[in-house]
This record gives sequence, structure tokens and C-alpha cells, in this order.
Amino acid sequence: MTTRVALVTGGTGGIGSAICKRLAKLGHKVATNYRDEAKAKSWQAALKAEGIDVAIVPGDVSDPASAEALVKAVESQLGPIDILVNNAGITRDTTFHRMSALQWQEVINTNLNSCFNVTRAVIDGMRGRKWGRIVQIASINGQKGQYGQANYAASKAGMHGFTISLAQENAKLGITVNTVSPGYIGTEMVMAVPEDVRAKIVAQIPVGRLGEPDEIAYAVTFLTADEAAWITGTNLSVNGGHYMGW
Ligand code: NDP
Repeated sequence: MTTRVALVTGGTGGIGSAICKRLAKLGHKVATNYRDEAKAKSWQAALKAEGIDVAIVPGDVSDPASAEALVKAVESQLGPIDILVNNAGITRDTTFHRMSALQWQEVINTNLNSCFNVTRAVIDGMRGRKWGRIVQIASINGQKGQYGQANYAASKAGMHGFTISLAQENAKLGITVNTVSPGYIGTEMVMAVPEDVRAKIVAQIPVGRLGEPDEIAYAVTFLTADEAAWITGTNLSVNGGHYMGW
């Protein structure tokens, strides 16, 4: 297997950590961004104790200049980025008639505009080297919608349009672009939901449980493998059968 350089945005979070670990265990050189240096350093040290090295670089992906600086810093530390996982994301849930412009903009900027900001900074290099793997971490709620998440669902659905357009533009250059749509995973984001609401969610999942972050990471390593060269412009639902549409 060829060793690649991978940037996973939001790598310090629940799903991002699992993606960083799986990519690193495959032998790739992995980096992620941070906004809180102390928090990121203790995260990095915990991984180091497990024998896993992940480079950490400051960067706010919702800001174009910061995202560009992040990419430059990763490339100067590890080399040109071959694998990009646009994973950083937030929620600001409320019903639309109560939603402020700020709640809308924060979610769109962090979840969707970040895909432009970071991908724009890596795409020329991938095109020049004629190899690349780009994966967006979307959500089941971008596929089916969700009460109280008009902002989040719009940001995640937007990733699909981005993915399939970018996939078409770059297919002949050895670059694949895909989306993974996780269902409900037992990370902080979901554990923050009240227990009775969570129980109702689990009751709707045919597999009968929440997903594990590593089950999303597995999908990412599948799509970013050398052997996945013919898989582009697709969306991989990883949701325990919760939603079986596109
Ligand atoms: P977490 O909240 O655990 O992690 C989110 C990560 O994104 C953190 O590292 C956070 O960094 C980072 N981040 C947030 N905003 C920014 C920003 N502006 N710039 C840089 N980094 C930022 O979330 P999960 O691991 O649960 O989710 C990861 C992805 O998976 C998200 O895109 C989420 O929408 C998606 N997803 C999650 C599901 C779930 O069930 N958990 C289900 C479906 C999709 P910091 O610590 O600095 O805030």
C-alpha cells in the first residue's frame, strides 16, 4: 500500500478521532486541525500513548484564510495532501421559525462553506499530481431531513451537490470525491440528546443500536483506498438501515 498524506478536519472529535486512527494504522501520515491548542495537545498525547501519531495544526475551517493556512502548514510538515476528509461539523438545532440568522450561518459556514475553503486549497495540488481522495462526512439528516435541523440538513444535503459536481470535474485526473452519510453515532453530539429522545431514535434503527465512530472510519478508509479508484460521486449511507434511500 502507498503511504499517503491525509488531512481530517475536526479530527479531535468523536468520529474524526476514529478516522484519524484508522488512516494512521494503515500507515498514512495524518494531520488534523485544532482551535483549542491545550485540548488538541492532550488529545494528541492520548493517541501517542496508543502508538498513533497525528500532527495537529491550528485552523478554523469556516474561515477561508484560516483553512488555506491550515493546508499550507500541513503540507509543509507532512508533504502534499493526497486524502482530504471534510469532517468538521456543528449543530445549532431549533425549529426554523425560531432560528436566528446566526444559527443558520454558523452551521452553513462550518459544515458546508468549510468544504469549499479546505478543498479549494488542496484541489490544485491533487490535480497536478493526478491522484486524490476527497470524502465529505454528511449525515442521514441531509438525506431525510430532521425536525429542528433545517440549517444542519441543508448544510449536509449541500455536500452531496458539491460532491457529485467535484467528482465529475476531477474524474479524469485520478481524484475521487464521495460522501459518507452517517446515521446516529454514539458521540458527544448524539449523547447530548435527552435519553428518552435517544431511545426513540434507536427504536427506528433496524440494526437496533447506535453506530460506532469506527464504523464510519471504516467507510472512509474503504473510499480512500487505492483500490477504490472506480468509486466516485457516490454517497455511502452508514446508518444501521435507518434510512435506505440514496
Ligand atoms: P464532534 O462534535 O465530536 O466533533 C466535531 C469536530 O469538528 C471537533 O473536532 C471540532 O473541533 C471540529 N470543528 C467544529 N467547528 C470547527 C471549525 N469551525 N473549524 C475547525 N474545526 C471545527 O462531532 P462528531 O464527531 O459527532 O461529528 C463529526 C462529523 O460527523 C460532523 O460533520 C457531524 O455533522 C457528522 N455526523 C455526526 C453524527 C453523529 O451521530 N455523531 C451523525 C451524522 C453526521 P473543536 O473541538 O475545536 O470544536
